[in-house]
Amino acid sequence: MKKIVFLTGAGMSVESGFKTFRGNDGLWEDYPVEQVATHEGWVTNPLLVNNFYNILRKKLFTAKPNEGHCLIKELENDYEVMVITQNVDDLHEKAGSANVIHLHGELTKVCSSKDPYDSRYIEQLTEDNCDVAPGACAGDGSLLRPFIVFFGESVPMIEPAAEIVAQADILVIIGTSLVVYPAAGLVQYARPRTPIYLIDPDDTPAHASGRLTHIKKGASEGMKELMKRL
Ligand code: NAD
Repeated sequence: MKKIVFLTGAGMSVESGFKTFRGNDGLWEDYPVEQVATHEGWVTNPLLVNNFYNILRKKLFTAKPNEGHCLIKELENDYEVMVITQNVDDLHEKAGSANVIHLHGELTKVCSSKDPYDSRYIEQLTEDNCDVAPGACAGDGSLLRPFIVFFGESVPMIEPAAEIVAQADILVIIGTSLVVYPAAGLVQYARPRTPIYLIDPDDTPAHASGRLTHIKKGASEGMKELMKRL
């Protein structure tokens, strides 16, 4: 079976009701990115950060995957499908995708702020227990924090992701402006003959690389178009 690798970003989930980072005003879901998505923001005001992700997590529990997510799952009938996502939502999993790597963490999980990757303290939250209470601590006594890779922190999943991209027979990028490193660098691991598709309603920096076929549509319509072309 051919291996098709998807690299998805915030635009993948727009049709499910989640906002992207808006280019110029630096907001995410109406909050300043600096405050809610950086390591500095977390250290400065953990209460505000935990509250922001509490709100987002509640929203996620009621969100549904869109047709784009579902068509990626459907391709598993004919391809070995791997999804590498920058998204912290679980909409690929909800659509049924079997192989999903989260580069930037998972909104449904919380962890120790002393060592976010200490698996003993990573907790999966459920819909009826999805709030981190003010001052709540992990088992090691440190503040509980969202299992999210903030800007300014390392991205441990980048190496396994690069290996997967290097094995791709087809690479499809959906809904990412590819300006956030190290994720943005993943495309360069694709083999020279691997076809690369970009599904995005707008031009992006990746679009300028010349090597890819741009399907200038949103995630769902773009996936329908891709399936016709494969
Ligand atoms: P980005 O905001 O930089 O870029 C989003 C891209 O999506 C843009 O190129 C835009 O043109 C495109 N887009 C808009 N509507 C679309 C649609 N309907 N279908 C397809 N594409 C569409 O996002 P990014 O590159 O993913 O980087 C932002 C960072 O923010 C990521 O690291 C991610 O972790 C985080 N983030 C996550 C979520 C989420 O989990 N749902 C949401 C916002 C931001």
